[in-house]
Amino acid sequence: MSKAHRGTGLRKTANHGRGECPICKTKGIKVLYEYDLDGKKVMICKFCKAHLKNKARLEKPAAAPADAAPAAEEAAAEAPAAEAQA
Ligand SMILES: [Zn+2]
Repeated sequence: MSKAHRGTGLRKTANHGRGECPICKTKGIKVLYEYDLDGKKVMICKFCKAHLKNKARLEKPAAAPADAAPAAEEAAAEAPAAEAQA
């Protein structure tokens, strides 16, 4: 279903999808995005959804190097061989 957060689809939701965001405490904002807050499913606004998504994206590279390092070494080892063939 497209435009799940706009227009006609919102009319059947409670209070037209509006309410108070449990994270930023903004009232009268559209809370349309499901989020797992302390093991409880809550509906959050698009700003908090975007913020959490950005936070997760920025935190990921910090955890990645442990996994990425061996792959990078392998790639470096393969690269000279590829150059030799060319
Ligand atoms: Zn919010």
